[in-house]
Amino acid sequence: MNERLREREQRYLMNTYKRAPVEFVRGDGALLFDSDGREYLDFLGGISVASVGHCRTEVLDAMKEQAGQLMHVSNLFYTAPMVDLAECLSKSSLGGAVFFCNSGTEANECAIKIARKAARRRGVEDPVIVTVDGDFHGRTYGSLSATPGLSRNPDFAPMVPGFGSVPFDDAEALEAAVGPGTAAIMLEPIQGEAGVFPVSDEFLLKARELCDRYEALLIFDEVQTGVGRTGSLWAYQQGPVRPDLMTVAKALGGGVAIGACIGSRGAGSVLEPGDHGSTFAAGPVAARAGLAVLDLVDRPETLRAVRDLGDQLGRGLAELDGVDEVRGRGLMIGVGLEAGIDAAGIAAVLLRDGLVVNAPRPDTLRLLPPFVLTVEQADLAVGKLASALSGTGRA
Ligand SMILES: *Cc1c(COP(=O)(O)O)cnc(C)c1O
Repeated sequence: MNERLREREQRYLMNTYKRAPVEFVRGDGALLFDSDGREYLDFLGGISVASVGHCRTEVLDAMKEQAGQLMHVSNLFYTAPMVDLAECLSKSSLGGAVFFCNSGTEANECAIKIARKAARRRGVEDPVIVTVDGDFHGRTYGSLSATPGLSRNPDFAPMVPGFGSVPFDDAEALEAAVGPGTAAIMLEPIQGEAGVFPVSDEFLLKARELCDRYEALLIFDEVQTGVGRTGSLWAYQQGPVRPDLMTVAKALGGGVAIGACIGSRGAGSVLEPGDHGSTFAAGPVAARAGLAVLDLVDRPETLRAVRDLGDQLGRGLAELDGVDEVRGRGLMIGVGLEAGIDAAGIAAVLLRDGLVVNAPRPDTLRLLPPFVLTVEQADLAVGKLASALSGTGRA
């Protein structure tokens, strides 16, 4: 890649990311192209964002039309795309009202505020939100405080009070942690950033039971699992329980920043004028993008393709030398590698071989490909993984 670009990035951007040495200049469906004209299969999708494929015509056309008409007026006025998108989200999920924002972490901030206000309304003085070790909820202070692995970093203390966590998938610990002072249980139905770990039905049932018992809210963070990623429109639809609040973002805008906190009828009615807001949220362009994405994803044939491609990849990957286990659902796949294989090293080899993946933990590769992947492209990716695992990637 261009050395000058790398130098200027170091000089002018805060040093918060370890970027891979590639400059991408174009995307098309499940493919990316770099500044040297090399082609890549994108099995990361911008971290579960490009689910309908890069530069998908339907999304582009909707955005172009809207951008030429009206881009922004703020939430002090009515715009139709925002209402259309809220109706779509509500009807396809929890049935209550929606608050829009611009990212996953903001969607969770909204859920946290709702949970606290609902708890205070029923007389809880120090409401606590119980989360799960390994969960990732975002980088702003509320969401950060709800993210056990990051909230312990002393550099950013003090955290927001009122959060506790239990070990992953430990229903007994959850029962012990939840009580009359609990405002909410907040969890990812499948942990994404931790390395793709699905939560058991038993744990979800316990969480629902405890929330019902103590009038706490059950919050599902579907920022990564939502919008078709697991083979149903929302991940909770394949599980045994329904949350009271759900947060979504990532894939919803097809590449444009948009987030939403969706409520059930009760939880969606807690906030009142002045309680929360956002200048940019659900501006007409982002809302039109979201509508185009939902129209493409919320179709039986799309969701079936996600499940079928996921099954195909899962079978192929499980047979590879060096693969210990394959986790996940649909096209949210964690590939657990055998001891002694460095996942980051394999990811670097794969990148040079034209396959984009990431390594959320030292023993795991994560695959989040666009749903427009073909059967041939899926096989090609498994072949690239096979050769990377049999070759130089071993530590
Ligand atoms: C990515 C992610 C977030 C944060 O989303 P941002 O848009 O980066 O703020 C929150 N929760 C989960 C589960 C995520 O995967």
